[in-house]
Amino acid sequence: MKERREPCLSPLALKILEERYLLRDKERHVIETPYDMYRRVAETMGGQEKAPAEQKEWTERFLEGLLNLEWSPASPCLMNAGTPLQQLSACFVLDIEDSMESIFTTLKDAALIYKTGGGVGFHFGKLRERGALVSTTKGYSSGTVAWLKVYDTAVEAIAQGGKRRGAALGVLPVHHPDILSWIKAKAIDREITNFNLSVAITDEFIRAVDRDEYFTLSSPLGHSVRQIPARELWNELCYQAWSTGEPGLFFIDRANRDNPNPHFGRIYGGNPCSEFLAVPYSSCNLASINLEKHLRKLNGGWEFDWEKFRTTIHTVVRFLDNMIDANVLPLPKLQEMALATRPIGLGFMGLARVLKALELGYHTGEGRSFAQSMASFLRQEAEAASRALAGERGVYPAWSGSLWEKKGVRLRHSNLLSIAPTGTIATLTNTSWSLEPEFAPVYQRRILGGKVFWEMDPQLEEKLKELDLDTPELRQELEKKGSIQEIKGIPQEIKNVFVYSLDIKPADHLKMQAVIQEYVDGAISKTINLPASATVAEVAKAYRLAYDLGLKGCTVYRQGTRLDQVLSLTKTK
Ligand code: UDP
Repeated sequence: MKERREPCLSPLALKILEERYLLRDKERHVIETPYDMYRRVAETMGGQEKAPAEQKEWTERFLEGLLNLEWSPASPCLMNAGTPLQQLSACFVLDIEDSMESIFTTLKDAALIYKTGGGVGFHFGKLRERGALVSTTKGYSSGTVAWLKVYDTAVEAIAQGGKRRGAALGVLPVHHPDILSWIKAKAIDREITNFNLSVAITDEFIRAVDRDEYFTLSSPLGHSVRQIPARELWNELCYQAWSTGEPGLFFIDRANRDNPNPHFGRIYGGNPCSEFLAVPYSSCNLASINLEKHLRKLNGGWEFDWEKFRTTIHTVVRFLDNMIDANVLPLPKLQEMALATRPIGLGFMGLARVLKALELGYHTGEGRSFAQSMASFLRQEAEAASRALAGERGVYPAWSGSLWEKKGVRLRHSNLLSIAPTGTIATLTNTSWSLEPEFAPVYQRRILGGKVFWEMDPQLEEKLKELDLDTPELRQELEKKGSIQEIKGIPQEIKNVFVYSLDIKPADHLKMQAVIQEYVDGAISKTINLPASATVAEVAKAYRLAYDLGLKGCTVYRQGTRLDQVLSLTKTK
């Protein structure tokens, strides 16, 4: 064993780890340091190697990367690896069949998942609509929104005992007869707070909107219920998204064209942040590479270290493969599915930091071109690593009949890339969230428990110091404006590179998502930020562009439309 070396963590990262990640004894005293936590994680996955020498070698390799903050598995792995719980997955996808039995079985299944720190996406589309006949009682069905409320209340209660907020997503297909109530559900009932809502949009629906046609709403029981003008539904959907940020859109036909396991059924939806789209009872282990730690100094500037990136990708794919076998899922059905399909969700964080270091604007063609090269490299190497593991350990058991078999690619994993939001792990590794631009030059961050931290973009701080521009007055201005674009005295070449979330046009947010999606077999969690002044038409335009660019989903957020915003410019009450 090499000598103990505590990772170099920020005060905020230390606080988060102490409050929620480090193990505690019965009296709730913290009994490990961050080094111990990373060693516990590395040993758990290293321990899956065959021979003792390999176990030792891989444990040290995993540990090295983790301590250097070069990558990180998602939160459940950090929390649970090497503990009696040993549930390591962040993402789960469940389905609800149209029976009382299934409604409550799925809810129980979800309860077991939430207890272990996972997030769950639910498909409500098989439930009969409100008012449909219930043959055994001759009564009428309460419909999907009523069941959504039951689920939301349950998630609230269960999450109180857990370490994470219980993230939940509900998906309803656009042709379900309850669709209008679904879209408005959260605006009408403010007590639904744990679920995010999504609508599965079909190509057929988009065609009907384009042609200004009527669109048929049909019951899951098989008959059509009524016809409505497709545009009316689309406008309502965009209005609600403008007003509350929901529903998000899920492009179901696009997702199914990429379904790696069509022989296991259809994809109806994904996990709460929608980076993992899969057939029901799938789950996924996530890890994200910190791109910022793959920069190296060059002539006073920075360059991206592709060789180091390659090595990290191969290490993390092996780590994730081992994680599938080390994992203990709370239901036999989940465990069987995970072992048969072996999905992994490799992603990244710190893209915005790397773009700034390389002096490329996030919103520019050059910025996108770097992101595209990075994503293409990530895909190519992740596939190479999975192929190599298939050679060493075998293709995933359900490979026969899969999309990969059709393509003639022998892989160890049915899903390779999923770009997760990295909401906590990017903070732990002190970088920017996944592919998101940074929120603002100065902002406040609320963490679980309501505590507020003020932060400044460290790269901007350095730059301003270098130019002798860092004054209290300027900081105040930055805090107020959320942008450097209108500030006099800051040179234009800095303004071109230091662009923040609201400086970037929705179309440029989407284009960044699209160039990356091209190489991602799974999906991407990304928020398209809009200023408070954005109109409904702008939301509609963003949603439509997302579809045209071939994205698998889209989430918009207009500033100030939610009270629980994590990052903000001014103090929230
Ligand atoms: N997730 C969850 N609760 C949370 C945040 C996330 O269950 O409070 C799940 C959700 O399925 C999400 C996935 O974890 O899609 C990854 O989220 P993120 O990358 O933000 O997690 P991190 O590993 O940074 O904590």
